[in-house]
Amino acid sequence: MALGKSAAVVIGSFDLGESDRVITFYSREYGKVRGVAKASRRMRSRFGGALELFTLGQLVFFDTGRSDLVRVDHFDVLEPFAALRTDLERLGQAAWVVECVNRLTAEHDPHAALYGLLTRSLRALTGAATPPRVAVCFGARCLDVLGHRPRLDRCVECGRAYPFARPSLDEGGVTCEACAAQAPGATAISPAAVAALGRLRAARWEEALAQPLGHDTTDRPADAHREVPARGTAAVRDDRRAAMRHSASNPRRAPASPGPVRAVGVGGANSGPPSATVARHGFAGARRGLGVWGPIRGPHEEP
Ligand SMILES: [Zn+2]
Repeated sequence: MALGKSAAVVIGSFDLGESDRVITFYSREYGKVRGVAKASRRMRSRFGGALELFTLGQLVFFDTGRSDLVRVDHFDVLEPFAALRTDLERLGQAAWVVECVNRLTAEHDPHAALYGLLTRSLRALTGAATPPRVAVCFGARCLDVLGHRPRLDRCVECGRAYPFARPSLDEGGVTCEACAAQAPGATAISPAAVAALGRLRAARWEEALAQPLGHDTTDRPADAHREVPARGTAAVRDDRRAAMRHSASNPRRAPASPGPVRAVGVGGANSGPPSATVARHGFAGARRGLGVWGPIRGPHEEP
């Protein structure tokens, strides 16, 4: 039994009973914490509107040790991030950010760097940077701080040094064309995307939010590679036909939307929040939901 106190962000919630709510926090001192906020849905709740999604506050909770859920005693707002809930684009990207944190972390596993990245990203989403760019910068750094940094300097299968003409992205980093042919889960990615990812994670946070990515002047990462196709239109069309044939013969490994355009759908229109497959298949299943930031499958995990 212990009393806990930490700065924390509300990253999720659901109703419980007639007037309670279960709130998921990501806290600086304790990592992810889930707790019951008693009577928080009543009109005269002592929590007021403090438990809204994305709110940063000072959390005080009591852990009885008998349940996974703690008892939420106080939550005093430090930064409400209200602007994230009044703009659809900001709301969507912020929801993706907190869902990544929620799904990729375990409870009571503190990670100060990830907490700092989360609050920095939410602050940036209320500022001048475009929301999809903030989400992409978050995604690249989130993989790094969680220890899943994709390898970009050589093929993860055969060790051949990058660059090569037609890279793909498989678990762990880039693969060359020959190795990608042996790996049905590999996703085509343009050299410009590989370079952009490298630049994004090497740059300081403010630079990463502002610097141009390749030929993309509209700052829409999801579209970056449509403007700089690695191959001709006919080759892309052939790829799609081949992918569709592959989908028909092997639906379990089929990409949701085959073709190179899908490969760059990071934090943009083509990549929604991590899907329910994340819950079922863990990091391996999260691959599609997280776009090119796809996670690394451990050797012990089945595909
Ligand atoms: Zn290779």
